[in-house]
Amino acid sequence: MTFGIRHVVGGLALRRGDTAQRQGFFGTKQPLFGADWQQWKLCSSLLEPDGWTMNDVWTYTWGAHASHALDLGVTLLCYWLFYSSGSWLVECREWRIGWVSSIFLFNLACEVIICNFWHYFNYVSDLYGTLVKRGIKHNPTNQYEPQSDEAGMLTSSTGQLEREITFTTLGWLQSALWQCIFTNLWAKGALPIYANFFEYPVYSLFLMWFVAYWREIHFYCAHRGMHPWWDRENGLLSGDIGAFLYRHVHSLHHKSYNPGPWSGLSMHPVEHFFYYSCATLPPLFISVHPLHFLYTKFHADIAPIGGHSGMDEPVAGSDYHYLHHAKFECNYGVPFPVNLDKIFGTWVDWEIYKKTGEMNVNAWSKQQMHDPDDKVTSLLKAGQRQISMEELATHSKPGDYFIALYGQVIDISNFISKHPGGEKILVANAGKDATQKFESIHAGSGGFDLVSKWCPESIVASLSDWKGPAPPLLAVRKYPGSLMLWPAVALFAAGVASGL
Ligand SMILES: [Zn+2]
Ligand SMILES: [Zn+2]
Repeated sequence: MTFGIRHVVGGLALRRGDTAQRQGFFGTKQPLFGADWQQWKLCSSLLEPDGWTMNDVWTYTWGAHASHALDLGVTLLCYWLFYSSGSWLVECREWRIGWVSSIFLFNLACEVIICNFWHYFNYVSDLYGTLVKRGIKHNPTNQYEPQSDEAGMLTSSTGQLEREITFTTLGWLQSALWQCIFTNLWAKGALPIYANFFEYPVYSLFLMWFVAYWREIHFYCAHRGMHPWWDRENGLLSGDIGAFLYRHVHSLHHKSYNPGPWSGLSMHPVEHFFYYSCATLPPLFISVHPLHFLYTKFHADIAPIGGHSGMDEPVAGSDYHYLHHAKFECNYGVPFPVNLDKIFGTWVDWEIYKKTGEMNVNAWSKQQMHDPDDKVTSLLKAGQRQISMEELATHSKPGDYFIALYGQVIDISNFISKHPGGEKILVANAGKDATQKFESIHAGSGGFDLVSKWCPESIVASLSDWKGPAPPLLAVRKYPGSLMLWPAVALFAAGVASGL
């Protein structure tokens, strides 16, 4: 769900100590009309536990669309700037730096303004302290500055902000590229398009209305497919494409297990490809107006900013997806238009969870759910050979040296002669678990990170009977973040200025 005016009004009111829920579109405490529609029961329903009420009818026909007003506003602005005159149908037949740069610059400007604004409002401004104090921030730890609690706009001590800005920027760039590709294909006549929206008024308005439903159903499918189909311990050889995609693609998004506004599009580019197929697939099969494509695209670009803010009402209602980030194997979709998680038994009701700590999901979901910390073990273990301590002990001969650290079996046969601390100590510990000795020597000089640094790709198995701790989290990898975003903005601004 995108953030909107009522969330800004709600946040500002909170600073004054007013905690009231904001139900009206413009941040009024009550909607202008229909406040009691929740009580108007119309009929019973399988999907809505208390049956359909007048309020549900309102949500499905209007409310769900109104909550994406920002996405629609950006869509209309983009259309007005680039498409409304109709000259694009001639100009964009050929790839030229000028129009391509304009589209990229518009997209990056949206990213810079919207992501930064919502990050600033929630995490950098003095509202942040109130949000934590009142329990509105779902995870009270500051994901960017856990020590000082004072998050910045560009960098973070945890590296999370830089990672998120980097991959969110790659997302907006890919999305802008799709826009250019389709604009060019339509201008060339390679794909069907119609330029007058009201040439087919019923069809045009129906498709615009349908975007809100299509986006959520598409998101559930694309997202659910990248989580384990059967078991998170599975590998590709077990036919579990979901577990494979999770490990190599989607786990990057889940690094933000304590999400913020920048986490929304922080995904692997392969995931961006699947994610944006909500906008790129339909025009391949049906004739659309540019507004249909643009609305689906900007909905996908902007909606996750609010949905990942990590805050509760009245600043944002991001609880549903927050639980997905915190627990991994539940709440894959959104409750609208159909709560598919409820149908498949993977829905954790935030209200019940908040009050009782109970997660009312099916046995599979309960067994697959995990806390962020054991993600590291399961990811490393997944699809990997398991060996026992006895088998490990047999790998202690020249040319065949294994050693175990934190339950991970490492083949050190080639590394042994290059060990800065000498061969002797490794030979003496070969075939054994050396976690304690390793920690006493290397804890302060790099720890488990040294393994990937000195012997990359050397973990060959995990110990089946290991009961000790999981490997410590790998050191923060540095991503360019804003150092990549701002040069990209400058590059496309230069492209526009060149007039080519
Ligand atoms: Zn996920
Ligand atoms: Zn997410």
